[in-house]
Amino acid sequence: MGHASTRSVALIGLSAHVVDVEADASPGDAELHLVGLPEMSVWPARARIRAAILNSGTAWPDMRITVSVTPMIPPIYDAAADLALAVALLAAAGAIPPERINGRVFLGELALDGQIRPIRGVLPMVAAAVRAGLSRVVVPAECAREAAQVPGAVVMPVTQLADVIDQLRHGAIRDHHDQEPDPAPSSSFAVDLADVRGNQAARRALEVCAAGGHHLFLSGDGPATMLAERLPGILPPLTDETAREVAEIYSLAGQSDRALGATPPLSAPHHSETPAAIFGSVAANRPGALSLAHRGVLHLADAPEFARPVLDGLCRPLDSGQVHLAGRGRSVRYPARFTLVLDARPCPCPAGREECACTPEARRRYRARLALLLPRVAVRAPVEWGDRGARAGEPSATVAARVLAARVRAAHRLADTPWRTNAEVPAPDLRTRFLVAPEAAELFRSAVNTGLVTADGLPRLLRVAWTLADLRGADRPQLDDAAGALELWKGADGDGAR
Ligand SMILES: [Zn+2]
Repeated sequence: MGHASTRSVALIGLSAHVVDVEADASPGDAELHLVGLPEMSVWPARARIRAAILNSGTAWPDMRITVSVTPMIPPIYDAAADLALAVALLAAAGAIPPERINGRVFLGELALDGQIRPIRGVLPMVAAAVRAGLSRVVVPAECAREAAQVPGAVVMPVTQLADVIDQLRHGAIRDHHDQEPDPAPSSSFAVDLADVRGNQAARRALEVCAAGGHHLFLSGDGPATMLAERLPGILPPLTDETAREVAEIYSLAGQSDRALGATPPLSAPHHSETPAAIFGSVAANRPGALSLAHRGVLHLADAPEFARPVLDGLCRPLDSGQVHLAGRGRSVRYPARFTLVLDARPCPCPAGREECACTPEARRRYRARLALLLPRVAVRAPVEWGDRGARAGEPSATVAARVLAARVRAAHRLADTPWRTNAEVPAPDLRTRFLVAPEAAELFRSAVNTGLVTADGLPRLLRVAWTLADLRGADRPQLDDAAGALELWKGADGDGAR
């Protein structure tokens, strides 16, 4: 008879829950029972843990061992708990001293040969453990650097179950004493707006979007991708809190190496990617491209080429700032608050315009694929190649300074509200609380009366007008700001006039 307990962490979406792993050994047939999980989800884990223990040179205990995980997070077994289950059952069977695993957190998936595999989501898991007062965490060696980013964590990296068993038999597991600092964030993101020649309207639109948090549509055949890639560089840097949110999402996506530093992220999925890659997967608990854009930029290049369900499925995350996924008896929400940049060529031709024989109807149908998305996009501008003779544009640093000043102005005005950018201000507050100058209001009224803007679309123009006023350093939008917002709404070819 023996009993042992230890801890692990379970993840639902990004919320991490510390769980108790308890093992009891009693006389009986050598067998491992996992309490509370559906048999289907348990048997691969049972086979894995058994093989890993046998391949670590330790005998399989000749007794009946029952392991329970509480609170149980049904109905999916998370392989990150493998290591905790293995040490708990070995301790219950007397193979290792139970007191040495007590109060520790064990994270890691076991391979059949006893190797300890890296897992996704170490950052939110270790953060939850430390918050729960459990600072000593055993993690796969590949995840040690990531785990060590959590202040207060004492990280113990391991690579083999045999090694873990050996260390626990002879003492405690050794701490991670690798104190060398993380390498500086790679400067591979050193793209600059000075590289984009000409395209003054699109550059201005990019600046307005950065300043107000508005979404952007670039139409035409031109350097849309160059512009989108330069948007993170003119956005205000992430705060400590938002940088942590972003880092946790990248950790859960298994891309922790990509989220470093204070530059907002850029996520640019290709139109051939699966819905799971774009929206995320509840079965795998993996966030998708939308969440990898959280607090940064989502760029959909050649937007009409995306599947219609993907385009239409973007509307709810755009409105709510999160992706809600349900399936397999579980539902998760991943954060997804980003600035959207869409671009579209004039027609579906892959080649240049010279060979284009598309009818106006084909062009209309192509653009109509964005019918649900475009009304949510307040700023539109043309892009074009050419203009090689044009002077190099302003550098990103100059534009970023104006963006920051405008953001500070907006944040100051919104100080006693939950919103920080103009794009977030709800329509009722735009009607009652934040009022534009009378001449500006009159221009907007006539735009609605002539059908240029729908009543539903009007709040989006009001928000952009506020951003234009903030960029000028003005107290409230005047006639010029209203006219400017209308121009940005209409875009090059009247895309917005619907
Ligand atoms: Zn064409």
